[in-house]
Amino acid sequence: MAERVFIGVAWPYANGPLHTGHIAGAYLPADIFARYQRLAGRDVLMVSGSDQHGTPITVRADREGLPPSEIASRFHEEFLQTWQRLGISFDIFTHTSTENHERTTHEIFLDLLEKGHVYPGKMSLPYCPQDKRFLPDRYVEGTCPNCGYASARGDQCDNCGRTLDASDLQDPRCRLCGTRPEWREEEHFFLRLSAFNDRLKEWVSRQTHWRKTVLNWTLGILNEGLEDRAITRDIDWGIPIPLPGYDSKRIYVWFEAVIGYLSAAKEWAAANGDPEAWRRFWLDAAVPSYYFIGKDNIPFHTIIWPAMLMGYNEDATEKLRLPFDVPANQYQTVRGSKASTSRNLAVWVPDYLSRYDPDPLRYYLAATMPETSDSDFTWTDFYRRNNDELVAAWGNLVNRVLTFSYRNFGGAVPQPQALTSEDQALLLRVESALAEAGELINACHFRSAIEAAMAATREANRYLEENAPWKLLSEDRERCAAVLYTAIGAISGLKVAFSPFLPFTCQQLHGFLGQEGPLEAQGWSFQRPAPGQPLAEPKPLFRKLEPELVEAEEAKLGV
Ligand SMILES: [Zn+2]
Ligand SMILES: [Zn+2]
Repeated sequence: MAERVFIGVAWPYANGPLHTGHIAGAYLPADIFARYQRLAGRDVLMVSGSDQHGTPITVRADREGLPPSEIASRFHEEFLQTWQRLGISFDIFTHTSTENHERTTHEIFLDLLEKGHVYPGKMSLPYCPQDKRFLPDRYVEGTCPNCGYASARGDQCDNCGRTLDASDLQDPRCRLCGTRPEWREEEHFFLRLSAFNDRLKEWVSRQTHWRKTVLNWTLGILNEGLEDRAITRDIDWGIPIPLPGYDSKRIYVWFEAVIGYLSAAKEWAAANGDPEAWRRFWLDAAVPSYYFIGKDNIPFHTIIWPAMLMGYNEDATEKLRLPFDVPANQYQTVRGSKASTSRNLAVWVPDYLSRYDPDPLRYYLAATMPETSDSDFTWTDFYRRNNDELVAAWGNLVNRVLTFSYRNFGGAVPQPQALTSEDQALLLRVESALAEAGELINACHFRSAIEAAMAATREANRYLEENAPWKLLSEDRERCAAVLYTAIGAISGLKVAFSPFLPFTCQQLHGFLGQEGPLEAQGWSFQRPAPGQPLAEPKPLFRKLEPELVEAEEAKLGV
C-alpha cells in the first residue's frame, strides 16, 4: 500500500446550504476514508473547495438582487462551519475565486489550446428575444431527451444524471421569462473530447477495481462516442478567457472546477511553506488519487477531467496522475425523491446541527450509505438507529463497563490474574474486526465496515451478559477483574474501528480510557489496555432521542 494518498472531494456550488444527501454522497465517505488512511500511517492530502462560479450562483444572485460574489462568500463561510462541526477533516477547503486557481486554470487552458485540444469554433446558442441575452445552461429548462424528466436543465438532467446541452432539451424555455428561446450563432472555445474517446475507452476498461455502477455508466457513454463540448459561456461571472477579445465570455465552471483539485493542492503546499509539496501527491506514480463524488458528477471525473489531464500530459516531462478510483455514490433520497429545495425535501445540515450531535448523523449516513443504490433518509430510521444501535449497543457497552470499573476498581483498568479462552476469544474477535473494518474502508465499502464494527460490538455485549461482572463483584472479585479487563480491551479496539465514523465520541472515549492526546496518534492498531492504567470518569457518549419527536421532524419535510 502507498505511503501517500490524494483525496479529491466534489466541489459544492456555493448557492445554498448543504443537505444530508451531499454529506452521504461525497463528504462523509471521503472523510471516513481520509481518517482511516491517517490512522494507518499514510500521508493524506484531502482537498475541495466551494464552486463559486457558474449559473447556479448567478441564478440565486438574480433572485436575491445581490452580486454573485456575495452569495458565494456567504455559503462558503457556511460550508467551512459545517465541515468543522461535522468533523469533515479537509487538509484544505478553498474556493474557485482565488488568484492561484485562475492562474492554474489559465495555464491548462492555454496549454490545451496550443496543442489543439481546445479550439475556437462557432456554435448555435439559445437566445432569449425577450431578455435580449444568451441563455447559458441553467437559464434554459426543458424535457430530458434521455428520461423524459420535465425540469431538466440546459447543462444536466437531475433525474438521470446525463450531461446535456440546451439544444438537447425538448420544449426549451427561458428560465427568466418562460419564452421559447431562438438560436443564434456565436463563437466559443471547445474541448476536443472526440479525440480522446479511444484513449479514454482503453484507460477506463483497465479500471476493473471501479464500482460497477461507475465503470459501466462511463463505458456506456464512451461506446456512444464523445462529442466536443463548449467550455466557455456568455456570462460575466467566472474566470476570464486569457486572450484578447472575449470580455463578455467566461471559462465555464465544469472545465475550471475540476482543475480545482490541482490548484487546491498547490495552494495547500504554498500555505504550508513548501510550495513544491503538491508534487508528491500529483506526480508520483505510486500515489493513488481518489475522487469522492455523487453520481451526477461521474462524467466530469471519469471522462472530462481524465481527458484534460491526458491532453496536458502530452509532451510533458512531469505527468499529472489520472484518477485511481472514483467511488461515486448513488443518491440519498427523501420520501423516495432526490433532495429538492423547492419542495423542502431535504434535511439541511446546519438545521440538523442546531438540534443534534454530529456523530449520530455520521453513524446513520454511513450505515445507510447509498453505495450501490439510492437509499432513503427517514427520521424514524434515524431515531431507531440512534436509540437501538448507538445508545443501546455501543454506547451502553462503553458506559456500563467503564462506569462499573471506575467505581469498583479504584478508577483504573482492573488487573486480571488470568484470562480464560473465552476472554482471549473476544479480544481476538475484536482484533480481527478491526483488521476487517480497515480493509473494507480501504476498498470504499463503508457500510460493511461499520457493520463489521457493530457485529463485534454485539458480541462484546453478549460476552458481558454471559459473564455478568456486576454479579461477580461480590462472589469472585478476581474473575470480575478479568471480565472487565477483557471488556475494556474490546472497547479499546472498537474505539479505533469506530473512530473514522464517530470521531467526536471516540476521541471522548479515548480520554475516558485514560489516554492523552489525539486518538489518531495511536494508529490503526489493537492495543490491549495496561492493567492499572488510570481511567477518567466516564459520561454517556450518546443521548437517547425521544420517539415522540419523530413525527414533528417528519412533518417538517415536504411531500
Ligand atoms: Zn434525464
Ligand atoms: Zn427570457
